[in-house]
Amino acid sequence: MALLKREEWQGFVRDVDWTYSYVDDEAVYPEWLSGTGKVPREAWLGWEESYKVSYPEYVATQREKETAAYAVKAALQRSATFDQLDQGWKSATKMHFGGVALVEYAAVLAELKMARFGLNGSWRNMATFGQLDELRHAAITTFFGHEFVGKDPQFDWTQKTFHTNDWVAISLRNLFDAMMTAPNVVDLALQLPLTFETGFTNLQFVALAADALESGDVNFANMISSIQTDEARHSQQGGPTLEILIEHDPVRAQWVVDKAFWGSARAFSALTGPAMDYYTPLEHRKQSYREFMEEWVIDQFVHTIEQYGLKKPWYWDEFIRGLDIWHHALHMGLWFWRPTLWWRPKAGVSKDERAWLAEKYPNWEKVYGDKWDVIIDNVNANKVEATLPETLPWLCVTCHLPACNATQSRDGTWRVRDIKLSYDGKTYHFCSNGCRQIFWKDRDNVNHETLIDRFLAGQIQPMDVGGILGYMGLTPDVMGDDPDYEAWTRDYVGRAAEGAAVAGA
Ligand code: MN
Ligand code: MN
Repeated sequence: MALLKREEWQGFVRDVDWTYSYVDDEAVYPEWLSGTGKVPREAWLGWEESYKVSYPEYVATQREKETAAYAVKAALQRSATFDQLDQGWKSATKMHFGGVALVEYAAVLAELKMARFGLNGSWRNMATFGQLDELRHAAITTFFGHEFVGKDPQFDWTQKTFHTNDWVAISLRNLFDAMMTAPNVVDLALQLPLTFETGFTNLQFVALAADALESGDVNFANMISSIQTDEARHSQQGGPTLEILIEHDPVRAQWVVDKAFWGSARAFSALTGPAMDYYTPLEHRKQSYREFMEEWVIDQFVHTIEQYGLKKPWYWDEFIRGLDIWHHALHMGLWFWRPTLWWRPKAGVSKDERAWLAEKYPNWEKVYGDKWDVIIDNVNANKVEATLPETLPWLCVTCHLPACNATQSRDGTWRVRDIKLSYDGKTYHFCSNGCRQIFWKDRDNVNHETLIDRFLAGQIQPMDVGGILGYMGLTPDVMGDDPDYEAWTRDYVGRAAEGAAVAGA
């Protein structure tokens, strides 16, 4: 029997589909999972991915990628590279392993849902490859992180994070459950492949691989690059889905993309922001977080949505202003509540580092300088206990991150505002107007309880910092602390004493 050429069979196998005669279409593709909404069933026939792949090609390529990544890992296993890595970079990797490994697994379930309920055969075919990709990412990330558990127990959170009630885990679960676990597949394709993967992670993984190489972490760079090549392929499920939805229901398309972009941007400001502008050693920084967001995320995202006929999200001005604010405030919060983290946050506010921050963010000294000065003087006066938390910060009901964004008042001062909403006999608090608006529009959805809700309801006992840390699953060997206080306080030794002398005179 003669073998068919690729072009002779590819067209048939990639979109196998048929009309059901024994059951209703609705029984096979129920609306709450397939989510067609105002889009007529037959419109999905036009769904087409731009990059087509067959199963034999897929397997051959993936096999090569796996072999390459594991070969480098094996070669480096006995080297001392890990011990020489900068603590700031190690923190960035711990944050990545813990914050991402099980999100890759959640993405397996998301891809499987599209593989089952997508209303076009080629889409289901692409998603089948997508779920194999994500299974590989979950495996490679947990495996690579696991190697270091013997050297540093914080790496144990690669697998542990999402099994705990740590506040970072709650915030990320809230984001990803809404993005991947709960939605119908149309909303899912707009939120995960289109917005989060095309808009954020794909580019961040490229930048992260470069940072890893710069920091001498070849192993991590290799892992990240290997993952990114898969993401680049399966993220293309977003475009064709958006094209069809926008034709029949542009309002829904706009809302879903806006919401996913906002949630992704909040999470990025908490994790990527501090890693880029504070944890990365000064000599290895290529660009600031703001510059990264402008060049890689914003330009690209705006170009993409305008190409499809969507508008910039309604919150655009607030989001752009936030690029100078959000991640600096969250960094300070992460550092102050450092016992609640599974990494060692580096304060990163020596004189040189501050000069860099002030150059990249002209308002930095005005908004954050005096707060860090108090912390620095306390450290230099041997009062580290004054720099540790005694209670919890107020957490935003929508993003579950601390409500700590300063905004500028008309008199020029910067203040953290409480953004409130009274609804159904309850007052809700938010970090920003964007989070408030999203909560309002989605108010009938089930939301995760914030850590504050749980605390006030008496779910956390005893009601003190010890009780809170226990509830979050943090053990003393894992609790985060600054890796090197002296590194960023020695520039200011004597300053507090001078100040006191002047005040005394
Ligand atoms: Mn992935
Ligand atoms: Mn993915």
